[in-house]
Amino acid sequence: MSTSQPKLSIVIPAYNEELRLLKTLQAIDEYLSGLPRKYEIILVDDGSSDRTVEIARGFTPVLGSMRVLKSRCNLGKGAAVRQGIAAARGDLILFSDADLSTPIQELAQLEKAVQEGADVAIGSRGISGARVPTRQPFYRELMGKIFNRLVQVIILPGIHDTQCGFKLFKRPIARAVFPKLTINGFGFDVETLYLVRRSGGRIAEIPVEWHNARGSKVSPLRDALRMLTDLFRIRMRHRGP
Ligand code: UDP
Ligand code: MG
Repeated sequence: MSTSQPKLSIVIPAYNEELRLLKTLQAIDEYLSGLPRKYEIILVDDGSSDRTVEIARGFTPVLGSMRVLKSRCNLGKGAAVRQGIAAARGDLILFSDADLSTPIQELAQLEKAVQEGADVAIGSRGISGARVPTRQPFYRELMGKIFNRLVQVIILPGIHDTQCGFKLFKRPIARAVFPKLTINGFGFDVETLYLVRRSGGRIAEIPVEWHNARGSKVSPLRDALRMLTDLFRIRMRHRGP
């Protein structure tokens, strides 16, 4: 195993992912076993009531470097990612959705951006070069576009997709920012990027391939409202220098 490349941690938040997880772990294993690098996988079960944990544990003999962490109850994606990042030992830390909507191969592009000087490289469906062969239902796409307009006006000008679940962090920025996060739900990406920017970190937005996967855990009405109010919460909670 080469030591020349930085060690990679992959954090996967998972809530009731019994139908989508196995394929994802297989794809990650296939990709990483072909590369000469050190890595670890941290699967964070977010209080699932299905067989997510059994499926993950059943896969640990294959992915020897996988740890399974558990939340006692369902707290939200933000809380799960935060827990995984706190446990990560890598020099580079990727978090990826359990449905692997962004193929793991896109990691190479994100890694190139951090090698070239970014502190954080984020997968994006919102800029030219992105490829989305299987799209979200129209109402989700529309809601995503409206949300991004508001995000750009209120908090993060110049970032066209904060919500893609595929983001790579250099260890120092991850350690600096994640312990300060307060948002447990899907709005945590915005809070993360806001704090990265405020701490002087450089964010590279990288167009990626993205496939909509069935079985979304997002409740369009409840989560959209929550995410909207989160924008104001983030501004209030991190006021001052
Ligand atoms: N997730 C989580 N806790 C939750 C809801 C979702 O950890 O309460 C995880 C989920 O298992 C997945 C990721 O967050 O890994 C993104 O969820 P999903 O794919 O449903 O979102 P979408 O693609 O619809 O935006
Ligand atoms: Mg998804």
